[in-house]
Amino acid sequence: MAADEGATVLETKDDGPKIPNEKKTKFDVVIIGAGPSGYTAGIYCSRAGYDTLILSGILPGGQLANTTEVENYPGFENAIMGPDLMIDMRKQCQKMGTAIIDDVAVDVDFRRKPFKVLTATEEYEGRAIIVATGANPRKLGLEGEQTFAGKGVSYCATCDGPFFRNLELVVAGGGDSAIEEATFLTKFATKIHLVHRRSELRASKVMQERAFNNEKIDFHWDSAVIDIKGDQKMQQAVIKNLKTNEETTLDVGGLFVAIGHVPNTELFKNQIELDDKGYVVLKNQTSTSVEGVFAAGDVHDRTYRQAVTAAGFGCMAAIDVDKYLTESADKQE
Ligand code: NAP
Repeated sequence: MAADEGATVLETKDDGPKIPNEKKTKFDVVIIGAGPSGYTAGIYCSRAGYDTLILSGILPGGQLANTTEVENYPGFENAIMGPDLMIDMRKQCQKMGTAIIDDVAVDVDFRRKPFKVLTATEEYEGRAIIVATGANPRKLGLEGEQTFAGKGVSYCATCDGPFFRNLELVVAGGGDSAIEEATFLTKFATKIHLVHRRSELRASKVMQERAFNNEKIDFHWDSAVIDIKGDQKMQQAVIKNLKTNEETTLDVGGLFVAIGHVPNTELFKNQIELDDKGYVVLKNQTSTSVEGVFAAGDVHDRTYRQAVTAAGFGCMAAIDVDKYLTESADKQE
């Protein structure tokens, strides 16, 4: 639905909530973001009877919209494709009565209530806000990352590791994530080439020791992945020693990029408290530094980053919103 039409015509079932078929800009709850956390928050808020809007951005579905099979989301014995899972979550939201607009929030004003969320053409109001804008894995910046996304290049070993059995793999990075992913991937891979741009790891000592003691992991120090090659699937990674400029081509079936994440919080600078890496700082459960503004999912979570945990945080934020709106109403009486 185009933004300038406002949040209007929604699919309703006979036994579902009745949504007025009119342009609407004022809501009880505005959720920014449509990954597992945003959709789950939408389901819970609408089901609790709140007039709820999800501003989903132009590519709804978050990181799962770009993945292939998801084997670790409970309820799907035979796995489910990431985009299908997100479409189902979206439909479930709409069935509950959540208004969803595929438009991008370009500005917010959380300084006064009701809170405002602006798109390029519309201004929406919410008595409560849930920030669910997620995070994106930091990219190496190689053309091949796009070409071989889902065909050898991955940003999540927990999600994709089991698809890479009996292959040699490259892991890029030197922090806790890279070491954790490399160690985890040794369960499946025949060999891991860990490529790090410096000569010492950033990862904690205990994790370093574990990796150094793992004979399946080879370390390529002072090195960077500079090219990814293949046909239908990735078949080679070219790495370069940054000190000697020597280039080496590795025959590998996959590349796991683990060089950190970038939370999507640019919009919220100067509105809610962010930490030094840009993640939303939570004050109590899912509350942010502004009363009435909540956050859910990878936008605050730098540890778990799973679809199921994001969905769980979305549920928590919706329950916290319910408590906040109920208490606000009590105060006004
Ligand atoms: P991180 O600690 O920021 O490490 C990122 C790594 O990627 C660094 O080694 C960095 O190199 C490298 N890197 C960054 N940009 C790069 C680029 N453009 N090209 C090549 N390499 C690049 O990120 P993280 O490992 O994802 O960890 C994030 C946080 O989560 C940390 O606080 C970490 O402790 C925590 N974490 C904890 C656990 C655990 O305890 N089990 C597991 C995972 C993550 P340099 O070292 O040269 O900067």
